[in-house]
Amino acid sequence: MELRIAVAGVPLSTPSPGGTVEGLKHAHSLGIRAMEMEWVQRVPVNPERMADIRKTAEELDMYLTVHAPYYINLNSPDAEKLDASITRILDALSMAQLAGAKSVCVHAAFYLGGEPAVAQENVRRATDRIMKHKKKLFPDVNLGYETMGKQAQYGTLEEVLTVSKEFGIYPVIDPAHLHARYNGAINTTKEWNEMLDTYVEYLGKKSLDTMHMHFSGIAYGLKGEKHHLPLKESDARWEDFLKVLKKRKVGGTVVCESPIMEKDTVLMIKTFSKL
Ligand SMILES: [Zn+2]
Repeated sequence: MELRIAVAGVPLSTPSPGGTVEGLKHAHSLGIRAMEMEWVQRVPVNPERMADIRKTAEELDMYLTVHAPYYINLNSPDAEKLDASITRILDALSMAQLAGAKSVCVHAAFYLGGEPAVAQENVRRATDRIMKHKKKLFPDVNLGYETMGKQAQYGTLEEVLTVSKEFGIYPVIDPAHLHARYNGAINTTKEWNEMLDTYVEYLGKKSLDTMHMHFSGIAYGLKGEKHHLPLKESDARWEDFLKVLKKRKVGGTVVCESPIMEKDTVLMIKTFSKL
């Protein structure tokens, strides 16, 4: 499929209140053809609302993804917290299925001062539990573990690719997070190409046809990510990044996670279409 550049949530300039449905209509009027629904505090519970979203998105041909709640740690040693994390992920996947979203972004875990290999094994085990419900609860939705921006967070490129390969899913690649995690690296054509080469090495050549990515400017320090920035206020070579995606014919979606939301989304869309 073609690449859709998505707005991260209901656009700021949406005139009337009305949640996601109004947001989809407004985004569409701005020339945007994809949206990530930000369920980062809680997962919605009303199936009828999901049906409305699905209908609107289908009518307008909007590509949908979801961001699952932040409050998740699949590396928690506390069984109750682990179970609650798995439940939140399953809720997000099930509601995404009803809304017609294609992929759900998940921040999988924190290392908690432990070995990355231990976190990897715990994420693997939790994924096995989650994927047992796929057929029944989320047959058409991808479980996407995100590459993370802080060094204390599970989520290097290799970590999320390893677990994704094992379970036949694909991760959410956030090059801005990797840029922050590695203190300014991953900001050149060569590095993005290497990143995509690694992705293909794990998941196969066809995997570039349907990717779930995030992008924004980003502020960072020694421990990695601080916060997101508008593209033009950051050091991100975002136009070069778009060129790489165009050249490699990457499909799927890139969610623009800029704080100025639709403004940078539209900027990316216009720039991309001129390449
Ligand atoms: Zn995220």
